[in-house]
Amino acid sequence: MKASQFFIATLKEAPADAEVVSHQLMMRAGMIKRLGAGIYNYMPMGLRVIRKVESIIRDEMVRAGAVELLMPVVQPAELWQETGRFDKMGPELMRVKDRHDRDFIIQPTSEEVVTDIARQELRSYKQLPKNFFHIQTKFRDERRPRFGIMRGREFTMKDAYSFDRDATAAGKSYEVMFAAYKRIFDRFGLTYRAVAADTGAIGGDLSHEFQVIAKTGEDAIIYCPTSDYAANIELAEAVAPATPRGAATQALTKTPTPGKSTCADVAALLSLDLKQTVKSLVLATDELNEAGEVVKSTVWLLLLRGDHDMNEVKVGKVEGLKNGFRFANLAEIDEHFGSKPGYLGPVGLKKPVKVIADRSVAVMADWVCGANEPDFHYTGVNWGRDLPEPDLVADIRNVVEGDPSPDGQGVLAIERGIEVGHVFYLGTKYSKAMNATFLDETGKPALFEMGCYGIGVTRILGAAIEQNHDERGIIWPAAIAPFQAVICPIGMDRSAEVKAAAEALYAELQAAGVDVLLDDRGERPGAMFADWELIGVPQRVVISDRGLKAGTVEVQGRREAAATPTPVAEAAALVK
Ligand code: ATP
Ligand code: MG
Ligand code: MG
Ligand code: MG
Repeated sequence: MKASQFFIATLKEAPADAEVVSHQLMMRAGMIKRLGAGIYNYMPMGLRVIRKVESIIRDEMVRAGAVELLMPVVQPAELWQETGRFDKMGPELMRVKDRHDRDFIIQPTSEEVVTDIARQELRSYKQLPKNFFHIQTKFRDERRPRFGIMRGREFTMKDAYSFDRDATAAGKSYEVMFAAYKRIFDRFGLTYRAVAADTGAIGGDLSHEFQVIAKTGEDAIIYCPTSDYAANIELAEAVAPATPRGAATQALTKTPTPGKSTCADVAALLSLDLKQTVKSLVLATDELNEAGEVVKSTVWLLLLRGDHDMNEVKVGKVEGLKNGFRFANLAEIDEHFGSKPGYLGPVGLKKPVKVIADRSVAVMADWVCGANEPDFHYTGVNWGRDLPEPDLVADIRNVVEGDPSPDGQGVLAIERGIEVGHVFYLGTKYSKAMNATFLDETGKPALFEMGCYGIGVTRILGAAIEQNHDERGIIWPAAIAPFQAVICPIGMDRSAEVKAAAEALYAELQAAGVDVLLDDRGERPGAMFADWELIGVPQRVVISDRGLKAGTVEVQGRREAAATPTPVAEAAALVK
């Protein structure tokens, strides 16, 4: 590629709304261009990186036995009604109508469509296992699109879906994907950690996230350096403010009036808020004596997960992770707490309590919480307004660095991460809802055991930059760099020697399969170097009259402090 034919548009300044370094650098390097909130043009330079990311993913998915197809971006609502997600998913699900007033959605993932394909196409156990994947545009109307394409509304995801005859086989498919994900992230050249996505049920739950380690990550990962224990609890949305408890309490205390709410009210409110994609909230309850003094404090973490099942509820007592519970639905909560249908929240509070909300993702008004007995709920609880940004280390779960690891194998450390991939064992959740069956060996219909596996293709770019940059710009890992090498001739228009040497090297590298760019724009050296340092191309070869006189060109790796004068004949070998 020659720069004069390509499109390069670098900026001196990043736009003011770019909060994190990856967003700033991607904008400055001309990789993306904003069209609307969370909606970006992928410009030629950025698209090259996206294509490389996609091709590594595709390569490893195929190697792992997955088959590529392509499912539509716009999907009929009927399928989503079959699983209930059309109603249950909150405003993150983009709903549109066609000219006949029929409902459609713009896919945030494709479980429904792929399950529909499976129930029609996979008829016999002999066709299993099968894993379908696509790399496709997704749309999620994120509450707070930010960080450029790291949390966009329109973005590209690779999503794969496995179909198996039984749980054992599904477990194998999960393992195959887990291993493929490791290869993918290794090939990207990123530092990452695979963490249990559910800290409440340690070990028992088959869901892992792949987290790229970065200070700006929205998630907090707790892990044990001396064992395999690693977990994420999406703390960005469920942690205490950095202020000491007392201060937060002062600021946020509401004293709701005990209400006459019934179980049905709670259930109704719950589904209402699930529609609003409330993900998590933290409650602290203080038991007061007659004099209004706090006699006992309990902190509760209540997570309403919106990822894959808008009905999935986690309730965890927030004293370490040992007492965390996980429930698939309201009925399971009731079973556990022995209460009647529809109860949620702190258990057994029959005395007056103060309800303190330390942080929640959404502004929540008129929430109902409280006891697991009728008429002991508190209504009109409000929280989530104007809360300070969380301090992930001083988090409300009281997990601090140095706490014992839940597996007893050492102590915990905490770091931040960016969720770039997520693998999930789904069981028969979707196949059951959509009656997707195949005929087993005995000729009887059986439900597919499923798994789903996502990678945020476009988010990878942001995550890679968060991890690899310096004051001059991006430092792309070689595997996903827009170009592997750039040739910078100085005075190409004046010097026939420089021109000839540059074109010869360019041809040689191209012939060797190196993704090389020849900067023939005629820019001044300073401006030219600044561009390529900003864009983050791993190798640069500078060709000048002075060097050629000595028989050398200058080769410099993006991370290297100085260039290495290299004999012209050896330059290509050094860059390759
Ligand atoms: P998050 O917790 O960051 O909102 P998620 O858990 O909702 O992500 P999944 O449903 O697990 O996301 O989707 C699979 C992958 O898609 C994620 O691991 C992430 O890499 C990517 N992804 C999700 N939401 C976005 C987004 N808004 N912009 C870019 N990539 C995204
Ligand atoms: Mg999300
Ligand atoms: Mg997540
Ligand atoms: Mg996820």
